[in-house]
Order: sequence, then structure tokens, then C-alpha cells
Amino acid sequence: MQNYQHFVGGQASDLPLGKVVCVGRNYAAHAKELNNPIPTEPVLFIKPSTALVKLDEPLVIPTHLGECHFEVEMSILVGWPLRHCNQETASAAIAGIGLALDLTLRDLQQELKEKGLPWEKAKSFDGACPVSGFMPITQSTNLQNQQIVLRQNHKIKQNGNTADMLTPVLALLSYISQFFTLLPGDIVLTGTPVGVGPLKLGDQLSLSLSESIHCITEVGSSER
Ligand code: ZN
Repeated sequence: MQNYQHFVGGQASDLPLGKVVCVGRNYAAHAKELNNPIPTEPVLFIKPSTALVKLDEPLVIPTHLGECHFEVEMSILVGWPLRHCNQETASAAIAGIGLALDLTLRDLQQELKEKGLPWEKAKSFDGACPVSGFMPITQSTNLQNQQIVLRQNHKIKQNGNTADMLTPVLALLSYISQFFTLLPGDIVLTGTPVGVGPLKLGDQLSLSLSESIHCITEVGSSER
């Protein structure tokens, strides 16, 4: 059984586990580093609830399928159902913001992309979505001015600001809700800034979202 539940403001939450809706290429500099065109509308994909694990526990990554990359992202926990919603409704439905890793089997993803196939095997494996606890948002929370930092073995690898998102959070939630109903307990990952790279067993990672969230974790073992 999966040892994960949502935490909001340091308390275990009653919200159920649900899907994770992710956006690819939401930062122009990251799209460029992978030689992808800058999209004209959000590129969406989904991770199942079985991908969720706690970010502050040692990560278990597949090591037999090529490189497994970190992508640090701001995460949004959905607290109310959203279907065909506008940005105001989306804003009222946010139960909290946090950090997540969109773990990606990059070699496998590249292979799938070249064949025009879906990315799920590269993005949606068990444990592919480590998430932090969430902080409730307040009047003073500026969703589009959050600094996202990832250090790998004490070296800064990703250091971006949500100001640089191509599709900002509320527009993204509204866009997603035109295609998929977001349910309470679902999570949205908002895209990764530039600087992604491969993980190795034993790596120490430290991640932060502005002043509100700090997480330390390590790559603990390989899945076979
Ligand atoms: Zn991502």
C-alpha cells in the first residue's frame, strides 16, 4: 500500500487521493533546453494517484530504463470540483500550494516522442510524483511570484520564478477544467523551469518554494 496522504498546513487532510494533471513546457527556457517548440497552448498529461509519494522520504527510482530526470514544479491541491470554470472560481478552489517532482524517464520519453506515442510509461510509473505538504494560500499569496529552487548535492540546478510561466496558474486551472473535471484531492503540476537533469542513487536534493516550503530528500534506492 502506498504511504501517502495529503497534508495541508502541517495537518493530515481528509481530501482523497486523485489524479495529477501536469503541464509540459510551461516555461520557455525549459522547452528550449529539450529542443521543443514553445507551445501555443498548454501541453497536458496525467499521472495516476499511484504515482504519489512523499517528497521528504527517500525516493525510489527506476534505474533500468535509462535516465530518470528531476523536474521541480509548483503544485496546486484542488479543494473543490472544477468543471468549465473561470479563473475566479479556480482561485477559490485552491486548497494549498506546494512543491512536487515530475520524475521523468527521459530516454524512454524521447523514444516515445519520436514514435508519436503517449508518454505515460515515462511519466506515470509508481512513485513518479513525489509531493510536499501544501500551504494554504492567503490574500497576500502571489501565485505568479514564487521562487522555485532545486539543489542537487548542494549545487543549484533549477532556480526559476513562477512569473515566467507561459500559462499562469489560474488560467491553467481554467484551461484544464475545459477538458477534465478536477475533483477535490486532485493535484495540478504547473511545469518546470530550466535546468532539469538526471538523478543518481545517493543524490541529496533540497527544494524550496519561496519562504514557505523547504524539503530535503535523497535518492534512496532503485526499483526493479
Ligand atoms: Zn514537468
